[in-house]
Amino acid sequence: MTNTPKDSHDRRSVPPVICYPTNMLTKPNLGLYGELRKNAKKITEIIVPPRDATHFLVKAGQFFRITSIEGPQVGDLNLWNSQNLTEFFYSGKTRALHGSHLTKGNQLWSCFPYLRPIATIVEDTLEWYGIDDFGASVHDVIGTRCDPYTQKLLTKKNYHYCCHSNLCRALSHATNQPITKIENLVHDVLNVFMCTGFTRDTGQYFMKASPVRPGDYLEFFAEIDLIGALSACPGGDCSKTHSSNLAMCFPLMVEIFTTKKVSLINESNAQWAAPQISEYDQTHGQKKNQ
Ligand SMILES: [Zn+2]
Repeated sequence: MTNTPKDSHDRRSVPPVICYPTNMLTKPNLGLYGELRKNAKKITEIIVPPRDATHFLVKAGQFFRITSIEGPQVGDLNLWNSQNLTEFFYSGKTRALHGSHLTKGNQLWSCFPYLRPIATIVEDTLEWYGIDDFGASVHDVIGTRCDPYTQKLLTKKNYHYCCHSNLCRALSHATNQPITKIENLVHDVLNVFMCTGFTRDTGQYFMKASPVRPGDYLEFFAEIDLIGALSACPGGDCSKTHSSNLAMCFPLMVEIFTTKKVSLINESNAQWAAPQISEYDQTHGQKKNQ
């Protein structure tokens, strides 16, 4: 039984405090990335079919761009260190550091015990959207990814082309490993172009039609060597439903750009180098012989 205290109004009026102030973080040098990008040449173009996923390889210092090409479509993005698949994108900590939705200048962080930026968003044509009257915004790190387990739980039905399953097939193909071996490496995503928020009355995760139009893109600078996998979500623009073949779906395009200057800068270590993994010693307070 809830017992409302007499000072409930005062307690609710306490102002919030940011959990993880980021003023100590080194800001990415967007000016340098912009200079590198001017001389970058496109080397790869990949089309991700609707309700499917495709993997791609990006070297540290290269750029990759995700573009809406035929119609409004949401993409679910996973990133792994291509030299060590146990280091991958950590959407929860990225959310804690940068907020629920990402845009230009935000970085994608890797999981423990590494915790370093593995990619930086350098361009976002949907930056104009901001936060709407429902509290929604685009490119969220709050949704997990549509998956067949939740679908089975809620509907008792099997659906094999959820983003989780699409990403499993893509990583299996990229690594030549059976899905049973790599499924636990598939992780919570960056929901590219998805428009989401939490309802004010129930706090539930909601989605609404993505404002993305053909030609819109989100572009990243790879801070380390990466395997990426992108799923063109079966929810399409995620305006109505997902985890089924009911929504209108479109392909997405991934392009990779490289520049000769990166290697020079990397070698001289003058302006940019791949971020180092966390300096924490991983003892967690445990004494020797404990
Ligand atoms: Zn999905």
